[in-house]
Amino acid sequence: MKIAFFGITKEEQKKFFKGSLPEHQLSFFEDPISKGLLPDEKDFDIISVFVNCHLDKDLIDQFPNLKLITIRSTGFDNVDVKYAKSKNILASNVPAYGSHTVAEFTFALILSLSRKIPEVVQRVKISGEFSYQNLQGIDIFGKTLGVVGTGKIGLNVIKIASAFGMSVLAYDLFPDIKASKELNFEYVSLDELLSKSDIVTIHAPLNANTRHLINEENIFKMKEDSLLINTSRGGIISTDALFKALASNHLKGAALDVLEGEEDLKEGLQVFDKQQQYPQDLKTMLENHILIDLKQVIITPHMAFYTKEAEFAIIETTAENIKMFIAQKPQNLVD
Ligand code: NAD
Repeated sequence: MKIAFFGITKEEQKKFFKGSLPEHQLSFFEDPISKGLLPDEKDFDIISVFVNCHLDKDLIDQFPNLKLITIRSTGFDNVDVKYAKSKNILASNVPAYGSHTVAEFTFALILSLSRKIPEVVQRVKISGEFSYQNLQGIDIFGKTLGVVGTGKIGLNVIKIASAFGMSVLAYDLFPDIKASKELNFEYVSLDELLSKSDIVTIHAPLNANTRHLINEENIFKMKEDSLLINTSRGGIISTDALFKALASNHLKGAALDVLEGEEDLKEGLQVFDKQQQYPQDLKTMLENHILIDLKQVIITPHMAFYTKEAEFAIIETTAENIKMFIAQKPQNLVD
């Protein structure tokens, strides 16, 4: 089989894949696939991509022999898996590599925001000023955490929240009643969660139902002075709505590991090539730049997954996905 891995930069990862799949022809590319960055060879049977690769219909069509797309992440909103399926191309993901990793990072963001850690560190390190004036934080003990999406990551977040002495409200399309009894949290509607939580954290996948789940109509239902955390996917929160809620001081702050249109932020001026989506893309990009500079906003570059342990789990499961596909027992399929 001819297998291509896109977005692989580390030698040890190449070595791992070569050791796991010795009888196959492997190619490695440091960059993600994009219209301007296509390899000369295109006759791969399997391609493996990361979250930074937006594999749309046109790009899928570039690979005439393609049989499997293996996505090295849990979220798969960056790949048009429905189109792939219509061409009999399977798609697999890594369903559970980072449920503790991302939950831990969520709390790193909650504590950073509630105790203004980035500002404090910047003051002492950069300004050399050993003072806490105007940097008073808030306790999270005794506060209510609203968890949107109680899958693998959401439930781990709830376990950590309990240890901090927080009460938890949750919203999910498919409530896990057993877990709610065991972990002592309550399922409510999204509106009730927003109106009663001091901190809201998002752990649902991005899809047609969740795009702009937090929007201009409901963001102002959030408690005044509450905090919004997103380590899931940027498109779940309308940037416009968040921008308005922060600018009007309705929300006290936000911590975002993911941004709507984060790929444009990375590609910078390349956004100007996309004629059709130009106005909204541009507006979102400008708002993202303004958000980055707000002191009540913490933005990290989609890295909640990025620990040694989780990265190894990703490549291990990806190699396993490929082996099982070749053995005609495909696993971790998504559509
Ligand atoms: P999961 O599939 O275990 O859980 C997702 C939960 O969301 C499920 O309980 C599901 O029922 C619920 N859900 C689906 N649609 C919903 C809706 N419309 N409203 C409310 N709830 C809904 O997934 P997970 O492992 O917990 O991961 C969650 C998300 O986190 C992933 O989809 C991915 O986008 C994101 N993620 C981000 C990073 C990162 O580095 N920032 C890393 C891993 C995962």
